[in-house]
Amino acid sequence: MADIIRLLPDHVANQIAAGEVVQRPSSVVKELMENAIDAGATDIQLIIKDGGKTLIQVVDNGKGMSGTDARLSFERHATSKIQKAEDLFNLNTKGFRGEALASIAAIAHVEMLTKTEEDEIGTKIKIEGSKIVTQEVVVAPKGTSMLVKNLFFNIPARRNFLKSDQVEYRHITDEFHRIALAHPHVAFNFYNNGSDVFQLPANDFRKRIVHIFGRKTDEKLVPVEEETQVVKISGYIQKPEFAKKSRGEQFFFANNRFIKSPYLHHAILGAFEGLIRPGTHPGYFLNLEVDPATIDINIHPTKTEVKFDDEHTLYAMLKSTVKHSLGQFNVVPALDFEQDQNLDTPYSYKNKQVGVPQVVVDSSFNPFETVKPSQSNAVSGGGSYTKPKVDGWENLYAGLETTVDSGVSHLEFESEVVNSSIFDDEKEVVDHSTTTFQMRKKYIITTIKSGMVVINQSRAHQRVLYENFLKNITIKEAISQQLLFPLTLSFSTGEINILKEIKDNLCTVGFVFGEITEDGVEISGVPVLVVESEVQMIMEQLISDFQQEVPGDSFSQSDMLAKTLAKTLSVKTGETLDEFSQVKLVNDLFACKETTLSPFNKKVYITITENDIERKFI
Ligand code: ADP
Ligand code: MG
Repeated sequence: MADIIRLLPDHVANQIAAGEVVQRPSSVVKELMENAIDAGATDIQLIIKDGGKTLIQVVDNGKGMSGTDARLSFERHATSKIQKAEDLFNLNTKGFRGEALASIAAIAHVEMLTKTEEDEIGTKIKIEGSKIVTQEVVVAPKGTSMLVKNLFFNIPARRNFLKSDQVEYRHITDEFHRIALAHPHVAFNFYNNGSDVFQLPANDFRKRIVHIFGRKTDEKLVPVEEETQVVKISGYIQKPEFAKKSRGEQFFFANNRFIKSPYLHHAILGAFEGLIRPGTHPGYFLNLEVDPATIDINIHPTKTEVKFDDEHTLYAMLKSTVKHSLGQFNVVPALDFEQDQNLDTPYSYKNKQVGVPQVVVDSSFNPFETVKPSQSNAVSGGGSYTKPKVDGWENLYAGLETTVDSGVSHLEFESEVVNSSIFDDEKEVVDHSTTTFQMRKKYIITTIKSGMVVINQSRAHQRVLYENFLKNITIKEAISQQLLFPLTLSFSTGEINILKEIKDNLCTVGFVFGEITEDGVEISGVPVLVVESEVQMIMEQLISDFQQEVPGDSFSQSDMLAKTLAKTLSVKTGETLDEFSQVKLVNDLFACKETTLSPFNKKVYITITENDIERKFI
């Protein structure tokens, strides 16, 4: 048999390697910015268009490259940063693989402009799909400009796989945050589609955090400081009361490199234990300085995972240092005797003009009308109850009158005072011929022809709300209630970006937005079901869900929004429902398109047939 093994041509090998290094536009941003840092730049500009798909440019004032180096830099395994294997154990640079530029040049149109301090004249190289198109000498300032256009132009499958511009933009912002936080002494500018997103002057770490995450962050920070032989820990944690629903602001840096470490994260959670509400996440910005010889950053090509020699010691130290800082913070007296109590206005009202309160009247309201068809689509679930159109559903209740002993209907399983009605209007339209009981503030039990159904109240309500919200988003007909005073909520730039992304959908469910600035958003209207005091919590939950699971298209975005709202607004286990609400919930559930599963694929109810019961009596 003839020999069949061949060495791959370089450009093919480069394309394959590129798959490892460049997953999406943000990977290019990371590699180029890290190269700029490694080149000793003190000023770095990042310019992107269309989520980085059309253009990514990084301009630095670092040491630049000679003509020969410029050309060599695009070769695979070409690096100035290490020479021998031992160098790997004493790394002070971000890069060391010499793979990034070769990979990027294999899958995009790249233009490099570079000049060193000593050289009079600079070099310009154009390279497309690993092929050098031109190399010329040009006039250029000291430093390097890398322009990357049309990412994945020669791999359509990869290009199609990219998410929306907004989603890619968000990944880039995340990457930008990480690098800008790791290098507060370097100035950064970030432009997106022609407008500037961040102007970060060289600063100390605390000011850098505040510049990125907004003015209000400053008051939340508690310093952390500890130096031992193994590690120097420095940075900030956020006060426990500011723990958020979202996981956004959690950063570890090891020797000025952003790292992910579930293990060390766990140490922080341990230190915060008992101080934050369940389901919320503490914020932290922590630098760990260790001897480069005791850390291995080589275990993953994209290099956010690292291995420490002595992780257990690090864990223990981190936990006790953070605990110590929290303790110090807690013993500081909270009373401020200097303060004049009379001046203590809530700051959101300070400097505000007092306006005439606005009253919104529902002009279509007719007190003599028994059924308001316009509200039947309302998210409130308090809309009129119409007989469900589900085929065969009526049969469930058929013959009930004869089988139910009327005396039984007054039995109550729960002795607590019934205090909650989720649907408190238009009671008369509900069919009271059905009997329901609530059990353990968790289940609604009702009888059907063949026996009984046990319904999980929370899941059932989630299903009802979910379908309602989804319908509202689709037909864009939600009813919102105007707030007397618009609420101003503060968020980080990253969170604001997410809000902007989902804003259109939020409007369709009934949120009304006022001004959106870079660190805050004004909300002047909310869906009928939403209570004003819960708006912040709901927004945080939404942002957190979207942060963790990035929905690709607008359908999954609507779906996710409906799910989150349903989850947050549904009645929970432990809530007592009055009889009206119970019946309404049962009826609404069986009017749903899907009744058996909650939006999160959990069983909504079980049925127990008369036969099942009979068998127990044998
Ligand atoms: P690595 O960073 O792992 O060495 P890269 O492919 O990213 O590999 O870069 C290859 C080489 O090109 C670097 O080692 C460096 O010498 C040079 N280089 C890349 N970007 C810059 C820059 N912005 N300024 C100066 N030199 C650069
Ligand atoms: Mg590099």
